[in-house]
Amino acid sequence: MEKTPFVTKEVLLEIVKEYPTPFHIYDEKGIRENAEKLKQAFSWNKGYREYFAVKATPNPFILNILKDYGCGADCSSMTELMMSDAIGYSGSDIMFSSNDTPAEEFQLADQLGGIINLDDITHIEFLEKATGHIPETISCRYNPGGIFKISNDIMDNPGDSKYGMTTEQLFEAFKILKSKGAKKFGIHAFLASNTVTNEYYPLLAKVLFELAVKLKEETGAEITFINLSGGIGIPYRPGQESNDIMAIGEGVRKVYEEILVPNDMGDVAIYTELGRFMLGPYGGLVTEAIHEKHTHKEYIGVDACAVNLMRPAMYGAYHHITVMGKEQEACSHKYDVVGSLCENNDKFAIDRMMPEISKGDLLFIHDTGAHGYAMGYNYNGKLRSAELLLKENGEVELIRRAETPKDYFATFDFCDILKNTKYDI
Ligand SMILES: *Cc1c(COP(=O)(O)O)cnc(C)c1O
Repeated sequence: MEKTPFVTKEVLLEIVKEYPTPFHIYDEKGIRENAEKLKQAFSWNKGYREYFAVKATPNPFILNILKDYGCGADCSSMTELMMSDAIGYSGSDIMFSSNDTPAEEFQLADQLGGIINLDDITHIEFLEKATGHIPETISCRYNPGGIFKISNDIMDNPGDSKYGMTTEQLFEAFKILKSKGAKKFGIHAFLASNTVTNEYYPLLAKVLFELAVKLKEETGAEITFINLSGGIGIPYRPGQESNDIMAIGEGVRKVYEEILVPNDMGDVAIYTELGRFMLGPYGGLVTEAIHEKHTHKEYIGVDACAVNLMRPAMYGAYHHITVMGKEQEACSHKYDVVGSLCENNDKFAIDRMMPEISKGDLLFIHDTGAHGYAMGYNYNGKLRSAELLLKENGEVELIRRAETPKDYFATFDFCDILKNTKYDI
């Protein structure tokens, strides 16, 4: 697949007059079309619901768009629960899939009536102590261990992952929960991340559906939903083929009809908790080239840095970069595209062949819609950028303002250090 920005240079030049770079911009049209397609892909399942993984793009404006497609909110922390509550999610609109969970977070999730997905067998007692009861609807997270393979390809390594319960623990947990009054059960697993194959979900579904049949037989628990969680990936690299969500939906339907339907479980709802797939391609980080440096390598310095997009620094992740207005030019120059952190891994691209870049060029860093802004931080005293929404009607809406020094200094408001200095702002 070729990588083309969803916004033109002309439009960006207008936008930067009002909103200085760097900023993340999101494509409402793309988000809507994709959410609609996902809904179609699973429309065969009566109870189907996508719980958007709020952590991927925790912005109320984005959540409100997804609400139009029936999405719920998958939360993993206190503030994500607060945000979801504030914009009207309640009860079973909320999935609380957290791990290493503090007691106050279980309390809030419980107060809001959200579905609690337990990461560990010891959390049964912990939850009961924190909230005074076991909710009637409860979910448990599964980790079969070992290596998750598709044919001979290793997809991920659940045996090395901190999440979920072992098979034995899961059966035990269901029995305990049932004895404590739980009536409706769900199972959840997230066994591979950013999969660019149509086979991941159907394979995961097979594992979970077979497990559900056994759990029902052995514990008598009423399983009402199976949560396939996140993990459907996106093609970050040019030439990579996208997932076909219709084929994925069909693949899951096939195993559903093979395994659940004959076992009298044809009314089980399928849930998903996609983050990256919902938003990743529909966001971009726009930054300006402000320096060029010729030393042992050729460097382009931009006004964004790893605090705006951490994935390249953290995982060596590839994000495609378009030099706006130079789409047709030959990739004749080899660059490291760098930010200003005092960290040598603050590089958006390393040894990448690109068109010749001049100071003042706008660069569009692709696929930052999920786990982009969200992973931001304040190292080197850097401030988080704004988030903008390119609306379907072509207008641009500010959906989060950029941080100012005042935000950065706000956590010193309890003491006098900045009082009566010019930084007392
Ligand atoms: C991160 C996460 C997701 C979303 O993952 P994506 O790779 O963005 O689809 C879903 N569920 C849980 C529990 C997660 O931790």
